[in-house]
Amino acid sequence: MDFDQQRAALIRHILKFKEGKKFSRQVVAALKRVPRHRFVDPIMLATAYDDRALPIDCNQTISQPYVVGIMTNWLAPEPHHRVLEIGTGSGYQTAVLAEIVQTVYSIEFHRSLADKARALLDELGYSNVLIKSGDGYHGLAQEAPFDGIIVTCRVEKVPPSLMEQLSDGGRMVIPVGPEPQQVLFAYKKIRGSLKVLDRDLVRFVPLLRK
Ligand code: SAH
Repeated sequence: MDFDQQRAALIRHILKFKEGKKFSRQVVAALKRVPRHRFVDPIMLATAYDDRALPIDCNQTISQPYVVGIMTNWLAPEPHHRVLEIGTGSGYQTAVLAEIVQTVYSIEFHRSLADKARALLDELGYSNVLIKSGDGYHGLAQEAPFDGIIVTCRVEKVPPSLMEQLSDGGRMVIPVGPEPQQVLFAYKKIRGSLKVLDRDLVRFVPLLRK
């Protein structure tokens, strides 16, 4: 099987999960387009389309495709949206979002990962992505408010700045809790507070602080 066939098989697999049936057409189309094999470590190429997280540089991971699908779906991205992502990692989730929304602002703690993701996303033609290297805990006030915020590393509590930088009616998808397992929350901001829309159990790497 070539990579396109492997990707198609992976998406069929993801859609078999119970939540998969609720995936929006836009999200499925985005997952179909993004060449995940370009985002994995070359030595992991044979497993690029397995439905699991894989190691990347700096002791981090590229998230499991099913989890990327769920997170993107829960964010309910629209073409006019401006989205903030904390934890660029490989840039795979960033690319899936960039397929759908107007602009993705993504912050990555490790400079080498940020540089690598930026170069790859440029090469693949994602001109609507802005990657910044640094600690994303405080978000990106100068570009706020955001229509959606997605956090791809686990936190103990929702960072207050992220809550503030979310527009009213906007959604935040974020894994919350200690090791070893966290709850992935989909929140909607309604009149200044976060209402839980959905949740699932997940495992994520921690949000790092300087
Ligand atoms: N969605 C990414 C997941 C990467 S793992 C992918 O599929 O490739 C989570 C990422 O969050 C790691 O790259 C890690 O370096 C980054 N991270 C951890 N703490 C952070 C922080 N405080 N600010 C920004 N990024 C952070």
